[in-house]
Amino acid sequence: MGSWLEGKTLAKKIKEKVKNDVALYLKQKKEVPGLAAILVGENRASKIYLRTKERNCERLGIHSEILCFPKDIEASLLKAKIEELNSREDVDSILVQLPLPSLFNAPEIIASIHPEKDVDGVHPFNLGNLMMNQEGLKPCTPLGIIELLKSREIPIAGKRVVIIGRSRLVGKPLAAMVTNENGTVTICHSKTENLPQVSSEADILVGAIGRGAFITPEFVKPGAVVVDVGMNNLTDKSKVEQMFGQDEKRLKDLREKGYTLIGDVHPQVIDKAEFLTPVPGGVGPLTVAMLMKNTLEAFKQRRNLA
Ligand code: NAP
Repeated sequence: MGSWLEGKTLAKKIKEKVKNDVALYLKQKKEVPGLAAILVGENRASKIYLRTKERNCERLGIHSEILCFPKDIEASLLKAKIEELNSREDVDSILVQLPLPSLFNAPEIIASIHPEKDVDGVHPFNLGNLMMNQEGLKPCTPLGIIELLKSREIPIAGKRVVIIGRSRLVGKPLAAMVTNENGTVTICHSKTENLPQVSSEADILVGAIGRGAFITPEFVKPGAVVVDVGMNNLTDKSKVEQMFGQDEKRLKDLREKGYTLIGDVHPQVIDKAEFLTPVPGGVGPLTVAMLMKNTLEAFKQRRNLA
């Protein structure tokens, strides 16, 4: 039986440092970092994530604002709004909450964010820097994963790392970061053949798919480190009981919220892996912590602060 590799403690430590630095800059410069988040449409999960980000900013002394737009807003108006945020002195970081409604050309919208303020590190300029192992803002979730592995002294260099999922926000930038850390990467996706066989070669396996409990023990090499990025709502009581037995917290979630949050990795994997990140409480809190850290970084970079 492996151990849970939780992310909450590290996330708290990172946020504590950001909070102290923000307080220091407020004292010295009479300014605080500012984050502007854009939400288009009514995606319920996106609203929850943004509220979490807003609450975290508040606790850390970072100014935040959420700009909500209807799902049918003209792309040109959205880009004009982003331009306005690009030119505002008090806004250090801008994030467009993904996914955007399907009518939008997401890469085009993202490209209109000034790279200096691209807190999610998804602008082509920042992704290019990441590919070249140069300084720059980097995507928060992969950054959090690397920090977590390092904090537990889990070696990456020379290890075989399999990432299932090739999104711009998670899989691809994580592959670049692992390569920069001298890991040997395989990226898998929906067209990968013999997926369980490929993934079971991994010393470190990352699931970033968006399919609840998809990664079962047959995907996992005994003793592997497994990182679960997925966030999926499970609403079926019989499936919850099948997966978690009579776990009081899970059943309470179901009663009160109508769902319980699960990852892409089946909980049985803990019996085969050395480490498994829990959902909730693994990668999620680190993503938020890295967003706070990136906002502070953007603030510092824009003012040439060390
Ligand atoms: P995404 O953009 O939807 O990408 C999903 C990826 O999974 C795609 O590359 C897709 O392959 C691949 N995939 C889908 N079904 C597959 C299958 N059956 N076999 C193999 N690969 C498959 O998702 P994302 O934005 O990366 O997010 C992935 C998950 O992580 C979601 O649950 C999301 O909510 C969660 N997430 C969590 C955090 C956090 O902080 N914890 C942050 C971001 C995202 P193709 O490219 O071939 O379609």
